Amino acid sequence: MTKILRFTVEDVRFPTSKDLTGSDAIHTDPDYSATYVTVFTSDSNLEGYGIAFTIGKGNDIVAECIKHFFPIFENMDLENLENEIGKYWFKCVDHSQLRWLGPEKGVVHMAVAALFNSFWDLIAKKNKKPLWQFVVESEPEKIINWLTFKYIEDVLNPEQALQILNKSQSEKKIRIDSILNEGYPSYTTAAGWLGYSDDKIVDLCKKYISMGWRHFKVKVGLDLEADVKRLELIRKTIGDDCHIMVDANQQWSVTKSIEHINAYKKFNLLFVEEPTSPDDILGFVKIKKAVGDVRLATGEACGGRVMFKQFLESGSMNVCQIDSCRLASINEILTVMLMAHKFNVPIFPHAGGVGLCEYVQHLCMIDYVLINGDKNNKFVEYSDQLHEHFIYPCTLKNGNYMPPLDHGYSIEMKKESVTEFSYPNGNYWKNNK
Ligand SMILES: [Mg+2]
Repeated sequence: MTKILRFTVEDVRFPTSKDLTGSDAIHTDPDYSATYVTVFTSDSNLEGYGIAFTIGKGNDIVAECIKHFFPIFENMDLENLENEIGKYWFKCVDHSQLRWLGPEKGVVHMAVAALFNSFWDLIAKKNKKPLWQFVVESEPEKIINWLTFKYIEDVLNPEQALQILNKSQSEKKIRIDSILNEGYPSYTTAAGWLGYSDDKIVDLCKKYISMGWRHFKVKVGLDLEADVKRLELIRKTIGDDCHIMVDANQQWSVTKSIEHINAYKKFNLLFVEEPTSPDDILGFVKIKKAVGDVRLATGEACGGRVMFKQFLESGSMNVCQIDSCRLASINEILTVMLMAHKFNVPIFPHAGGVGLCEYVQHLCMIDYVLINGDKNNKFVEYSDQLHEHFIYPCTLKNGNYMPPLDHGYSIEMKKESVTEFSYPNGNYWKNNK
């Protein structure tokens, strides 16, 4: 019998603000950071790893919050956790005191995400499978028990969710073969950060085209004229066969969003991401009405499944951008994927940052094999940064994420990276105060 013995959590920060990697209209100096949880078990060969992602300051606050949940799981049988993970998940998101700080959003929810990301890693390793494979090969009835339908039953109930899962069972084998052979398509954000010069953007676009990418996301938002110029430059560089999407990172008011999006129409954008406040569902509805068939994308900053429910039902979330570390891990991610499927809205998981690409490679496989069955019109974000710190980094071939084959959820970091970039006492931060 394997027992969970103890946990550690590290505040790991990478100094990405130095070269403006990750810079956008609102987040001008992000230091990509991870609250890095390790679960130790009575089996010395079995450890679980999980992260939440932040962009620097406050990473310590998430780390502190995670510690509040450890006592619930110390000395628990791993078997028990695996069998009852839905129940324990709900116990955490609905914690009678900590929920006051949410409920089910913000720091506490991200803490639950990091913790359960580590549990899913552990459970997949115990079952000797990569997480995506463990999930898609689990019985539909068992999967339903991982989820909660509280507050969303008016749009999706357990019977409907089960129906979706059952429907895909007969297709699973063909779909798995297809991803093992071809992978799952991605788009890149790495060429269009707001702080980059024109020359750098052109060079990067050319580089990524030569590597197989056809979909490029560009950060916009500060200056309409400058944005249009950059979009012209990018369109000229990548040609009409490639696709452009833009991300405003919450920069505009509703009125400004409409003005900007209408000015971009000539670029035939695949979508416009986060034009305004990520909480303003009615604002999104107004924007959608005013911009016609331009697709609006949002979700990376949506705190939980209830916001997704409203966005999806409102018709103003046309591309659903789940975040692996803001939603509270697989339990809630699956719920949102099922809701999106019901509303016929494609999932384009949010990635980049640190570790997010390692996570979304599992999520897109799960969405395709278990739920949606379409991978021709959906693209997962990819950004070529910080992968060198992971023991099992994601692999891309011709712009496609290849399914991870190592056991677990792919987030174990190299020990030397954790030591070097731990904040504030790692070597890097001690020497660069
Ligand atoms: Mg974004």
